[in-house]
Amino acid sequence: MQPGHYRIVITDCDHGSTEEEKAVSSLVGAELILAQVREEEDLIRACKEADGLINQYALLTRKVLEGLPKCKVISRYGVGVDSVDLKAATDLGIIVANVPDYCMDEVSNQTIAMILTLIRKTAFFDRKVKSNQWDFHLGIPIYRIQGKTLGLIGSGRIGLEVAKKISAFGVRVIAFDPYLQKGPEGIQLMDFDTVLRESDFISIHCPLNESTRHLMGEQAFKKMAKKPILINTSRGPIVDEKALAQALAEGRVSGAGLDVLEKEPPDPENPLLKMENVILSPHVGFYSVESISELKRRTAENVSAVLTGKWPRSVVNQEVKGKTRAMISPAKV
Ligand code: NAD
Repeated sequence: MQPGHYRIVITDCDHGSTEEEKAVSSLVGAELILAQVREEEDLIRACKEADGLINQYALLTRKVLEGLPKCKVISRYGVGVDSVDLKAATDLGIIVANVPDYCMDEVSNQTIAMILTLIRKTAFFDRKVKSNQWDFHLGIPIYRIQGKTLGLIGSGRIGLEVAKKISAFGVRVIAFDPYLQKGPEGIQLMDFDTVLRESDFISIHCPLNESTRHLMGEQAFKKMAKKPILINTSRGPIVDEKALAQALAEGRVSGAGLDVLEKEPPDPENPLLKMENVILSPHVGFYSVESISELKRRTAENVSAVLTGKWPRSVVNQEVKGKTRAMISPAKV
């Protein structure tokens, strides 16, 4: 295929290099342009000749999309597609695609790392030894991991990975997930209160929405019978941090590992920052060199799939099927 046959425009991105995207685009003879624009008028000007878009933060409003007569597909780096007016895209026959599973290995490892760090108190002992306190008694009691119960709140892609990995430590896995009829292999589904009551570790892997905001609040902490460790690598506002700080201070929760917070970065006076039994990371769960490389490659593959008549791996606006601007082979939908 002749180079320049198609034009793919990256509206904006903060990833530095676009070599992976370029390599994928060139395989289908597409020219790739990095526009780095965010304003409506600039977006229309930079993207009006585009056959496909790759997008990170720039808002693709109805007005912008109506100004892009050739655009057949928009592929968003990552999971969320809040930057795209989905209804407008569907009305215009534009496929909106995403990459929901590029970092399952990383986030599940972050979760396991936090459980192990809190159980074995490695971060605590590291601080003690470096301040000249060589005394394991400072950290007792420490409990065995084998034979304990992990309760998942949400048992989708990442929850399932966590379950598979923690099973190797001899941990039983139970889960609350109102949208599953049957637990995936190795996971027993239970109601919310039973998971809170029976778990030694509780790990949150559900999406943030109006029914999960502050799901882990005062009422939930009161139902936790085993003084569990709480891990949140999902979204900060699922945990009511004020109630968590209180539950930690009263010993109803024995430790917390948080990769995400209600406010990121947190206020310096957030009490969780000063607690010995809380470990924090700066919303890094998704990141590894490999996950970002995979994200970039697969975001570009979504676009090149559509331009060559194929349905991409993950489409967000499924209702566009049958009225796409792109000619998609029926066998490939
Ligand atoms: P997923 O969609 O595969 O799974 C989510 C699961 O939660 C589904 O099985 C769903 O049925 C369940 N669920 C929905 N509402 C629920 C509720 N009220 N109570 C319990 N379960 C409920 O999602 P995923 O890919 O496993 O991602 C899980 C979370 O991890 C998301 O919130 C995502 O934003 C977050 N995430 C964080 C990072 C990070 O860097 N820390 C990276 C990627 C994803």
